[in-house]
Amino acid sequence: MPVTPPETSCGQQAQDGGTLALLADCVRRLVDEVLIPAEARLEQEGGVPEDIVCAMREAGLFGLTVPASYGGLGLNRHDEVRIVFELCRASPVYRSLIGTTLGVGGKSLVTAGTDAQKERYLPRIAAGDLIVSFCLTEPDAGSDAASLRTKAEKVDGGYVLNGTKRFIGNAPEAGLFVVMARTDPQSKGADGISAFLVDAGTGGLHVGPPLKKMGQAGAHTADVVFEDCRVSADSLLGGEEGTGFRTAMRVLDDGRIHMAAVSTGLSRRLIDEALAYALDRVQFGKPIAEFQLVQAMLADSEADWLAARSMTEATAKRRDAGENVTREASCCKYFATEALGRIADRAVQIHGGYGYIAEYPVERLYRDARLFRIFEGTSQIQQLVIAREMIRAAR
Ligand SMILES: Cc1cc2nc3c(=O)[nH]c(=O)nc-3n(C[C@H](O)[C@H](O)[C@H](O)COP(=O)(O)OP(=O)(O)OC[C@H]3O[C@@H](n4cnc5c(N)ncnc54)[C@H](O)[C@@H]3O)c2cc1C
Repeated sequence: MPVTPPETSCGQQAQDGGTLALLADCVRRLVDEVLIPAEARLEQEGGVPEDIVCAMREAGLFGLTVPASYGGLGLNRHDEVRIVFELCRASPVYRSLIGTTLGVGGKSLVTAGTDAQKERYLPRIAAGDLIVSFCLTEPDAGSDAASLRTKAEKVDGGYVLNGTKRFIGNAPEAGLFVVMARTDPQSKGADGISAFLVDAGTGGLHVGPPLKKMGQAGAHTADVVFEDCRVSADSLLGGEEGTGFRTAMRVLDDGRIHMAAVSTGLSRRLIDEALAYALDRVQFGKPIAEFQLVQAMLADSEADWLAARSMTEATAKRRDAGENVTREASCCKYFATEALGRIADRAVQIHGGYGYIAEYPVERLYRDARLFRIFEGTSQIQQLVIAREMIRAAR
């Protein structure tokens, strides 16, 4: 069934009205009136249906953080997290479609792209006409990403890429791949890694079939293989070799704050589902919400959610003020994703047997939630970063 997006584009309203509150309100309505009601279609139709993509495009969601000079809304981090809190009350599959665009790949382009690269790609990204994939992980390089082996060999007029990238989000629908590859074969670490902007359809770039996942059905993840894939010299991000990995690390703090916001939004949804069910479900002659052991689960979830939301907003504000927030961003990603795991588990518990049955959204959201503790830096990697920063500051 086709959807009717809220009357005016959210982005347009926000720009006209000049307030974030308007945009947040508009996204809230989009979530409640369009995105949540269409969640069942994500798995049935094997992806986000085109009419929903149009509604998201109309709302300006693809260009949230793209600078206004390139047609985006140019939100700062604090405003971005507030919109993401709202958006991510709906299935995380919707966010996934804009996630690799607004995430490390797109932000690398905003941060380090040449003027020509920005002109070429950012307006289409902001308009929702170009999906970006970020290709870092490899079969033998996951948490230890700096050990990646994909090669970019310099040839006359450009480079030739060879290697395999694993678990690449949005690869089947991407029009642009931001690819980390080693330009200096002598270097084993980060210094020899450069970033390339590779258009879909370039000869030698192959996207594998979508992988079958535990959750987030409708969001596509696939291998991307480069076989003698030739790109021009102006595909080198920022026009400089050896800076790609460092650029990705520079925007990583933003990515961690973003993932914390995503987890906080999904946590809110799970709590709302659990509370509504607890008020409705009657056992021993009263709603289960009146039993104190159920109340304890609700209260623990609410406290987890508020803590995650508060630390994410505070860190985003400090980042906007130009502070180094590496330790805090990892704390946010670590805490908010682990809190989401606890909240999802309690939501299923409050639903009893019905929480285990696919008819209820918490069954699906519980599986969807598991990913956030794994990708964009596992919880263990966040712990290492936090401790490293603490020790560095103390010395
Ligand atoms: C659905 C999905 C989408 C993804 N999307 C993308 C994408 O778009 N682009 C992209 O580049 N990547 C993507 N990834 C990859 C993701 O970022 C990696 O899976 C993640 O970084 C972990 O790497 P790994 O799977 O190789 O696990 P490993 O690094 O092998 O880790 C296995 C376990 O060992 C632990 N571990 C590893 N090193 C240490 C250490 N030093 N100390 C303590 N514990 C350690 C880890 O915490 C983990 O528990 C995606 C993954 C999934 C599943």
